[in-house]
Amino acid sequence: MGQYRIVLLPGDGIGPEIMRATAEVLRAVERDGLRLELVEHEAGSELYRRTGTALPDEVLADCLDANAVLLAAIGLPDVRLEDGTEVQPTMMMGLRRSMDVFAAVRPIRLYPGVPSPLADTSRGIDFIVLRENLEGLFTSFGGGYVLGDDVAGDSLVITRRGTERVVECAFELARRRSERNGRAPKVTCVDKANIFRSFAFFRKVFFEVASNFDDVEAEAVYVDAMSLYLVQQPHAYDVLVMENQFGDILSDLGAALVGGLGMAPSAEIGLDRGLFQPAHGTAPDIAGKGIANPLALILSAAMMLDWLGERHDDPVANVAGRDIEQAVERLLAEGRIRTRDIGGDARTDDIGDAVARLCAKGS
Ligand code: ATP
Repeated sequence: MGQYRIVLLPGDGIGPEIMRATAEVLRAVERDGLRLELVEHEAGSELYRRTGTALPDEVLADCLDANAVLLAAIGLPDVRLEDGTEVQPTMMMGLRRSMDVFAAVRPIRLYPGVPSPLADTSRGIDFIVLRENLEGLFTSFGGGYVLGDDVAGDSLVITRRGTERVVECAFELARRRSERNGRAPKVTCVDKANIFRSFAFFRKVFFEVASNFDDVEAEAVYVDAMSLYLVQQPHAYDVLVMENQFGDILSDLGAALVGGLGMAPSAEIGLDRGLFQPAHGTAPDIAGKGIANPLALILSAAMMLDWLGERHDDPVANVAGRDIEQAVERLLAEGRIRTRDIGGDARTDDIGDAVARLCAKGS
């Protein structure tokens, strides 16, 4: 029997609202053979404002101990650390590094009935941005330098180990996707190997790893060209793997193609741990109004169940994850109820109720 302890971090801004809706969905997919112990902790900017700590040691310890962590959103623009920066990057980098979650899997999928800014989406949009999550330009986080008032710099670091493990993850993901969607698997390395030695090295390691996956097509594209192709022919891609900062940028571009940040889930995974959170921030402009789209977090929760299923060889958890995804798909295809960001007027809680009801019916 799969029994999992899940740490929930609702965080700031719209975080608590979308977490409430998502917890309702998680409770709806519990069934014989699947029990979820949901343990909620306070963390983030509001907590920092009150106590001077964003992520207390005991909360971090529980995150490291749990089977998975589901995080809604962290950060408020008016809450700053002593050096003037926001709380969110420091807390998130600390959590990612502690959990060693090196691969950020960001599905870009256009669901039926969701508006896209592209004129022609008849061939569908369904690809993954796989962002290396710990190194690249973000290695420099907390470092960097400023010399006087004239010069500033940050270093981009690519390691063999860091590249190999995220590229292996990309090929394994492509294989799994192919088993499920029947498409020929393909992994595209996105880099700037024509200019920088670090990216030439990334590409070299990519093709070394690719040689162990003969059944998966491997190709490489420069990042500037890729930002063009993703708008012109998004249907041509399956799994894109890239350095941290490039992934940060292209995953937002991808989200824009499929209905915006409210439709962009993500799974940050390592060998032992998983951190699941939407690609969006705390949306302070709409916080507290009950109109935020909870689907990115709900779909992140679906990815969490699928990951737990794979990791613990537990098909019941895999099916529960798929039930959530299918419920979201049905809800959007029906077109009756959706939040404002994707052309409706439903409230956050209504979406949680509707997805939970569809899940309960389906299971
Ligand atoms: P961060 O830097 O913390 O990632 P951000 O600057 O990318 O944050 P977001 O908080 O993600 O900004 O918000 C960007 C825009 O997208 C805002 O207009 C916000 O209202 C909208 N938005 C983000 N998430 C959602 C959501 N779940 N539902 C509806 N709108 C959203």
